[in-house]
Amino acid sequence: MPDASGARREKNNPDPVTPDAPVESLPEIGPKRAALLANLGIATVGDLLFHFPRAYEDRTKLRHIADVEEGEQAIIEAEVVSARNVRLRGRMSMALVTLRDGTGEMTATFFGRGFLAGTVFQPGVRALFTGVGGNYKGPALKNPEYEVLSGDAEDRLHVGRVVPIYRLTEKVTQRMLRRWVRIALDSVTGAIPDALPPKLRRKHKFPKAAEALETAHFPESVEAGRAARTRFAYEELLAIQLAVLGERAARHKLGVGCVHTINGSALKALGKALPFTLTDAQERAISDILADMAAHRPMMRLLQGDVGCGKTVVALHAIAAAADGGYQTALMAPTEILAEQHTLHLREMLRPLGLEVARLTGSTAAPTRARKHIARGGAHVVVGTHALFQSKTAFKNLGLVIIDEQHRFGVLQRQALMDKGVQPDVLQMTATPIPRTLAITVYGGMDLSIIDTLPPGRQPVKTRRVPDGKVEDMYAYIAREAAEGRQTYIICPLVEESARRAELTSVVSHYEELSAGPLAGVRTALLHGRLDPDEKDIIMHRFKAGDIDVLFSTTVIEVGIDVPTATIMVIEDAGQFGLTQLHQLRGRVGRGADQSHCLLLGKPKTQDGRRRLDAMCKYQSGFDVAEIDLELRGPGEFYGVRQAGLSDLRVADLIRDARLLDQARRDAQTMLAADPGLECPENALIRVASGRFANASLG
Ligand code: ADP
Ligand code: MG
Repeated sequence: MPDASGARREKNNPDPVTPDAPVESLPEIGPKRAALLANLGIATVGDLLFHFPRAYEDRTKLRHIADVEEGEQAIIEAEVVSARNVRLRGRMSMALVTLRDGTGEMTATFFGRGFLAGTVFQPGVRALFTGVGGNYKGPALKNPEYEVLSGDAEDRLHVGRVVPIYRLTEKVTQRMLRRWVRIALDSVTGAIPDALPPKLRRKHKFPKAAEALETAHFPESVEAGRAARTRFAYEELLAIQLAVLGERAARHKLGVGCVHTINGSALKALGKALPFTLTDAQERAISDILADMAAHRPMMRLLQGDVGCGKTVVALHAIAAAADGGYQTALMAPTEILAEQHTLHLREMLRPLGLEVARLTGSTAAPTRARKHIARGGAHVVVGTHALFQSKTAFKNLGLVIIDEQHRFGVLQRQALMDKGVQPDVLQMTATPIPRTLAITVYGGMDLSIIDTLPPGRQPVKTRRVPDGKVEDMYAYIAREAAEGRQTYIICPLVEESARRAELTSVVSHYEELSAGPLAGVRTALLHGRLDPDEKDIIMHRFKAGDIDVLFSTTVIEVGIDVPTATIMVIEDAGQFGLTQLHQLRGRVGRGADQSHCLLLGKPKTQDGRRRLDAMCKYQSGFDVAEIDLELRGPGEFYGVRQAGLSDLRVADLIRDARLLDQARRDAQTMLAADPGLECPENALIRVASGRFANASLG
């Protein structure tokens, strides 16, 4: 395009713009191109500048055609001599392109892309080709990447240097992005603010923002490019940590929470009544919680631990301490059946201490009377579902809120319950462990207690894959176990047969076939999400009571359901499930004294599927499983990451930058200790940056 825009380019000093200006204020970018960039999430000049390369390619060392070696990666700059569209068998085509430089000729082949001959590749066209040396009736590059050169000054941006490789979108090429980023860099000269406080920048020997931005896109070396990127990743992580830690510090300063008595009579009596010794992890969690409760500031603590690790008994200690001081506790569970299970368990433990446990759910028989009783302070603990936070529900003296399976509730729902007391202490619980790097970010505003060991005497669930040839034996085994009073879950991915995914096992047909076949002698039942809640409850109760031997189900079976006599978990088409889900399913068994088994069926079609099943066989702990899951799926898929706005981090990567994250967290702590409100002028810009993550913590 050697026209007006070319002339403007030669000037090389486009009109200055600020980073928040829309991309359209840049020369050469009109509405059409702006729309393309929007597909990459780029709206402003700043967004474009922060669209960092995903990699670099070192084009300082171009190879001559004569020196290209078979099996080695090479970049050549060459001229197209001729190009042919060759028809192959079937409807396949191939472009055969003959290339030449001063040292010789070679062929480039493009399978399935015959159309390139005569369009992109015409005789005389000069281009860069990157690929591995091979042979096609002589020296060749097979399916190389290519970049057509324009032959003017513009090429200096793309050849003979380390070039950035960007994430692309349809109709946007590397060349276009490189050029537009170059224009953006030239347009904002002098207008890039440096958000990093100078002290921290010097401490880590980071370059200034403007310089680092230039280097991140057009570095002297690949290493320099990466180092420049690190600076921005650090800045982003620092902003996040300032946001979540700042929020926590602000809460700690509130001196208006309930001050609970610890060491009262109920708490002591509970300690004596426990039928087992607490694990060290439980002891630690309890002392964390009691210390929070004794303090003025309101507690906001998350208790993380696998299913069955004994979170409920920890919660019991908090409830007893609250009751000792005359405070009521609300325990909120996501489903009726979990609420009922908690109610029964708490009654068993708390009645002997003289504490009353009430239940309030959608199915409570006389809800008005129950609510009056609660409002008068008649119940020490109220266990319930969504009914708890409805406006009709009131407490006399709510001092402790416990939220089980906290991710099942929205922030507003949790808040509505808290608002029924005056700054009550809050304990949230989750059986879905997330990796530490994510936890200190997503849950960074909360204090964290982790139970990472199972109670003693619990036998780890034995997990293995069952090859197709052994499936019949497995059913015979399940039937024998049923005769001994040990129950089985069989989980299938689909409710009904579907034509599109015919290969997946449908729970309905599977239930029918097996009940009439290999499992004919045992009591079977079917559970799935299309049943209405009452029916589901009835079936779960019958299973719990031992009236059903084998329960066919989709993944609707609840997290936290406690059926100690269920010892076998069969997962059909196991490769279809996510790792966290597989682990949650496995948690349904292994809850009693007998050895439990998790049996994974089916042959995964993908490498990731295989890795998931291998990880299941290898690891028992939810924390280990979560780490592998993070490696396989990346952070975006984890609970809370999207909600917290962390899936669209501009630069940082919560996996690769784990060490940087620790550094940023320590620095954020130091900064907040010295300047809690980030009011010093040198902290002004990073405070603005951290405002973007104001809701990052799901506390
Ligand atoms: P979670 O709520 O974390 O899934 P629970 O609190 O339901 O786990 O505990 C699972 C089972 O383990 C319960 O039957 C409980 O009584 C038992 N349990 C808890 N802590 C211990 C312990 N320290 N020793 C022995 N059994 C325990
Ligand atoms: Mg307190």
